[in-house]
Amino acid sequence: MATPETDTRTAETKDCPVCHGTGEVARTVRVGRKRRAVGEQSGICLNCLGTGAQPHPG
Ligand SMILES: [Zn+2]
Repeated sequence: MATPETDTRTAETKDCPVCHGTGEVARTVRVGRKRRAVGEQSGICLNCLGTGAQPHPG
């Protein structure tokens, strides 16, 4: 039974393309009616829900 060699690293999980495997993304914090950006805040990645792994490979 031949096993196709597709990826030498791992075929189970891939890094989330949004947070690059960190599980967190930087969000811009805005305040006021003018939506002035006052800084960035670290938040959970909604793509992988903080797991850092791509939920749907392929
Ligand atoms: Zn992510």
